[in-house]
Order: sequence, then C-alpha cells, then structure tokens
Amino acid sequence: MGIGGMAFAGLSSIGGCGSPSNQQAEEHTDEQQAERKLGIALVGLGGYAGGQLAPALQETDHCYLAGIVTGTPSKIDKWRRDYDIPEGNVYNYENFDTIADNPDIDIVYVVLPNAMHTEYTIRALQAGKHVICEKPMAVTVEDCDRMIAAAKEAGKLLSIGYRLHFEPHNIEMMRFGQEKRMGAIKHIIADNGMGSTEGWRLDKALAGGGPLMDVGIYCVQAARYTLGTEPVAVTAKEGPKTDPEMFKEVEESLTWEMEFPDGVTAVCKSSYSENMNLLRAEAEHGWAKLEPAFPYSGIQGETSDGEMDCEGVNQQAIQMDDFAKAIKENRPTPVPGEMGRQDVKILQAIYQAMESGERVVV
Ligand code: NAD
Repeated sequence: MGIGGMAFAGLSSIGGCGSPSNQQAEEHTDEQQAERKLGIALVGLGGYAGGQLAPALQETDHCYLAGIVTGTPSKIDKWRRDYDIPEGNVYNYENFDTIADNPDIDIVYVVLPNAMHTEYTIRALQAGKHVICEKPMAVTVEDCDRMIAAAKEAGKLLSIGYRLHFEPHNIEMMRFGQEKRMGAIKHIIADNGMGSTEGWRLDKALAGGGPLMDVGIYCVQAARYTLGTEPVAVTAKEGPKTDPEMFKEVEESLTWEMEFPDGVTAVCKSSYSENMNLLRAEAEHGWAKLEPAFPYSGIQGETSDGEMDCEGVNQQAIQMDDFAKAIKENRPTPVPGEMGRQDVKILQAIYQAMESGERVVV
C-alpha cells in the first residue's frame, strides 16, 4: 500500500532525476482557469514563510503571493513593499475569517507553530479556501481527523508542506526502494538533527514535542517513501539532557526504530544539539545514500553504482505550483492531509514507546 493509504502519486507524476517536474506536459480542464495564477495567503510571517516560501513564490508559474495574515503589525509595511501586496489582502488573526470574501485568495498556507495548525487550517477551509499546512500537520491524530473532515465538508484540497516529495534526489530514493532497483530494501538509516533551537520549539504546548516533531518527522517520512510501506511497530529511547533547564518540556534527542513488514527495519535519530542529515537504504544487491538528505538545497546522492545525477531545484516553488495545478486540474495532491495524519500517528507511537520503554504497535 502507498503512503497513508493513498496511491503513491509521487512516483508516476512528478519528475525525478533527468526530468524536472516544471517541464512536465500539462493538461488543463479549463483554459482560463489554467492560465490564472492562484493567490496564496501566508499565515504566520516567521522564518520559514519569510526565508523560503515568500521568495519561492517569486518563482512560481501557477500561484503567487497575494496576501498575508499576521499578528505583528510592524511586519506589514515591509512585506507589502517587498511583495507588492494590496492593503485589502492583509489580515490579522481576529479578522482572518473575512478572507472568505476575498476572491484574490485561493489558497491559505499555514506556517504557524505546530499546535496552531489545526485552528487556522479549519478556519481557512471554513472560509472556502484550499489549504497547505506545514509539517507536522498537528500535534494529535484527533486534530488531524478534524482537519481532514473540515476539508471534506468544505470540498477543498488539504495538503501538507512536504517539499521533499518534489525534490529529485529524494524522488530517486523513492524509486530506488519502491522499484527495487537493487533488490528489496532490508534496512534504512535516517538521521536529522540541528545543533541548536529556541523559542516555541522548546514549548511543548506549542510544538507538541521536541526534535522528533520538528526534524525527526523527515526520518519517518523518508523511511515511508523509500520503502512505500507502513511501519507496524516502534521502539524508542530518549537521549541524555545536556541542558536540562532548556529541555525541561521536550526531549533534547531521541533514537527510535521502526519495524516494517518482512523484517525490514529503519533506525533513526533526531536531535536539537547535534547536526545530522542522512538517509541511507541497504538493499539486497547494493545501497543508496543521501547526505545531506533533507535541506532546502545542496542535497547529495550516491548509490553503490556511483553518484546520483540529479539537479537541484526550488523545492518550495515546485511544491506550491503542484498544489495550484492539483486545484486547477481537479486532481488529488500527492501530499494530502491523510499522509500528514499517518506521520502524526507514528510520531505519537514513538513518544509512547519512548515514555513506556515498550514496543508500541502503530
Ligand atoms: P518561526 O518561529 O520562525 O515563525 C512562527 C510564526 O508564527 C512567527 O511569525 C510568529 O510571530 C507566529 N506566531 C503566532 N502566534 C505565535 C505564538 N503563540 N508563539 C510563537 N509564534 C507565534 O517558525 P518557523 O520556522 O517559520 O515554523 C513555522 C512552521 O513551519 C512550523 O510548523 C514548522 O514546523 C514549519 N517549518 C517547515 C519547514 C519545511 O521545510 N517544510 C521549515 C521550517 C519550518
């Protein structure tokens, strides 16, 4: 079965190495709709929205930065100047629901602290907008269910900001594993860690957990998309706290193992005090490796046959363009809410295993 019970659209429809996705032939149901760029409003103007998404929206063909939603009035002038945003397309968290009346905004992109994703995703869907929500989708599976139900009820698309599904080296890993290019995969190693962190990421109520929620989720995703199967059980062990005051609410680091069908295993690490960035797959007749595996640029790939010949792309631009095209073409997104829900379910099982010391069935 594909990820989250969905067909693995990523393998067939999105370009890997040698076939960039922005060169794909396009089919449109309606010519006018196909030509119009869809308007995106970013909710939460922090590091990721300002550093990555807004610049990427200067390179998109099917969508553009049309509006902003912020609780910080002092940010407004610069954003409006930098991105030519009309006054009428600026919202705060109180008047956000009136975005329903704004035909410039087709898509709301939620880039807030993790625990706020559910509320703003549901409010945007209820306002009649399609939604991209950042990872992790939410901090509980129940919240994910409410978001998916709201999308169904509104008849709108809900996508999670899984940019690596549009990145050629990672797509090559999906093919390596799922097409069994060197035989079946036996074992995966995935590590993702940052040397430091701050702010809401250390606050359990806003983050839902520590590095597992923030960067470890990439390891869970990578194991799932490399194998194309779902983990059946997990075990986990929290690392030592070198700074107990800083990490009083969330783990500083974590190692965990995911058991997949047929005895396949994935051993993973996430940390807020160690830089790590690796995805490695051991197959019957060879191996493939990305290092670094998950950054915005500079991903390097190699297999036991030699270097991967993949180009670097603007992941966020391709991700947002694909979502806009999915809306225009009335097709599903390859990174839907159901995929985000499955990751949150696995993350919760990993925390349960960490706290209990027991093997937890997913
Ligand atoms: P950030 O701290 O830089 O920005 C958060 C924004 O939320 C700020 O503008 C802040 O003002 C606003 N905010 C509103 N209410 C807040 C509150 N109560 N407490 C704190 N901030 C509040 O964070 P970020 O790095 O931009 O992350 C935002 C989201 O994007 C997170 O869910 C994160 O996981 C995700 N993210 C995804 C990627 C990716 O590669 N897909 C990369 C970075 C972050």
